[in-house]
Amino acid sequence: MRINAKRLLALCVVLALGISNLYAQKTIIHAGTLIDGKSHDTRSNVTIVVEDNKITAIENGFSKGKKGDTIIDLKDKTVLPGLIDLHVHLEGETNPNRYIEPFTLNEADVAYKAIPLLNKTLMAGFTTVRDLGGSGVNISMRNAINAGLISGPRVITVGNSIGTTGGHADPTNGRNDELMGDPGPREGVINGVADARKAVRQRYKNGADHIKITATGGVLSVAKSGDAPQFFEDELDAIVSTAQEYGMHVAAHAHGAEGMRRAVAAGVKTIEHGTNMTEEVMDLMIEKGTYFVPTISAGKWVAEKAKIEGYYPAIIVPKALDIGPRIQNTFKKAYERGVKIAFGTDAGVFPHGLNGREFKYMTEVGMPAMEAIQSATITAATVLNLQDKIGSIETGKVADIIAVNDNPLKKIEAMENVVFVMKEGKVYKK
Ligand SMILES: [Zn+2]
Repeated sequence: MRINAKRLLALCVVLALGISNLYAQKTIIHAGTLIDGKSHDTRSNVTIVVEDNKITAIENGFSKGKKGDTIIDLKDKTVLPGLIDLHVHLEGETNPNRYIEPFTLNEADVAYKAIPLLNKTLMAGFTTVRDLGGSGVNISMRNAINAGLISGPRVITVGNSIGTTGGHADPTNGRNDELMGDPGPREGVINGVADARKAVRQRYKNGADHIKITATGGVLSVAKSGDAPQFFEDELDAIVSTAQEYGMHVAAHAHGAEGMRRAVAAGVKTIEHGTNMTEEVMDLMIEKGTYFVPTISAGKWVAEKAKIEGYYPAIIVPKALDIGPRIQNTFKKAYERGVKIAFGTDAGVFPHGLNGREFKYMTEVGMPAMEAIQSATITAATVLNLQDKIGSIETGKVADIIAVNDNPLKKIEAMENVVFVMKEGKVYKK
């Protein structure tokens, strides 16, 4: 076959197209200031290179990239890793009708109503959250986000919580006899070792990632005590050891010291709220490597709302007024004593999207801004055992990247106004 000029030209075009297709287009981010989530120092004027969903290079100066690359100009911003909130409830949000919603909403209603909440969370710069309990719809939400059906943060979820009869996670507290029934391990209510194991296995079967227990009473349950211990040691041991069989960790809601002490001794991964934490409990947490997830935002919110008549059922008001304002001071003491702190807010108890306010509450009682940020980046990633994937801006990690206008090390409120959000290499806000 003779190759004439026309054919040669066509061949060249085909080859050229082939070669250009081999060059994967990149996203080039120009960061004026970089807080990488891990290092204690910031960097100035760097380029972050993103290919597909990964960070593939971090270079000094502002690289121009190649033709066809997308340049994102964040030269006058502070760039950080996507934030991680270890304590949210995505299935709903505080409102005075919250207590009748279980009787008025179907699961599909819960799911649809949650879509804007997921969005608010992501737009606030939280690219990963640990959902610490709902009805189980949160598992479907996680799956829908992972499948790309809806947008939202990366969700790690416990499904629904585990408590004991009348305890903080008993879903039928405060109902009349007919509606109260006798919930069991499937619903998250256990009594004894066999129930404890069954409840954990049921959650594994449901598709939960981890386990949440309510080690003591709680503020927002329709029950009297906010801090009584609600599990015996053998029940806690059964929960923790069964969870470990499936590679799940246990998060323990706790306000009272004795319930907290038992949970820490049994080997839970995190203590949530921790209101009446004693020095003895703090030392045990340090010894066992247990993380404290403070949720100061929730404490402040419930104490404030409890002053509005009718916002909460009457039985909740004294608990909210008593427990709420104390969390920030407990956080201060635990931090100063050396307890490991991981970021969590209890969003849902207050409106989603305000998660970033927690940084201000942490720093106003003495935690340096850089440490507060790291509690929501590399430390939180480590709690989730995802430290090789997320939690810092490093080559090889997933491209979860956000930006704020001001330098949060100088003005921590900057964390409440996130202006750029990328999750897994895809831009959601700019
Ligand atoms: Zn909570």
